[in-house]
Amino acid sequence: MSEQQKVEKNKVVKIQYELYDIQTGEKLEESEYSYIHGTGAMLPGLEKALEGLKVGDEKEVELEAKDAYGLYRQDLIDRVPLEAFGGQTPQKGMVYYAQTPEGEVLPFTVKDIQGKEVVVDFNHPLAGKDLKFRVKVVEVRDATPEELEHGHVHDDGHEHHH
Ligand code: ZN
Repeated sequence: MSEQQKVEKNKVVKIQYELYDIQTGEKLEESEYSYIHGTGAMLPGLEKALEGLKVGDEKEVELEAKDAYGLYRQDLIDRVPLEAFGGQTPQKGMVYYAQTPEGEVLPFTVKDIQGKEVVVDFNHPLAGKDLKFRVKVVEVRDATPEELEHGHVHDDGHEHHH
């Protein structure tokens, strides 16, 4: 019976969560998330707090910025020429994606447009925020061998290709 299963390594865990900014009290997100426990797919502090919970259990978890998405780093703010946007005018506050020479895709936020220059921010949107998660465990099951091999959850349980 899946209801008896506990959150532990290599279980597929589905949670419902609400995410709050502790300083402002603002609710930032309300969503569901499925992940494989113990594989590093989840914030370590949150993963640790969920260890041993069962379906139906609820928990509030507070994480300081440094234990969540990191401190806000001024050195991750950069300036790029407007022409790097290929003739499009970037929108302030929008998230765009840059590709490194190694092929890694990095999201960034446009902070400002100053003449021919764009001020871009490579900090995670939640960087610098102390966060509170209100979490409810809605499903715990064994991960399939394929899910463990891929390192992510297959929601429909069917084999697929990437
Ligand atoms: Zn897969």
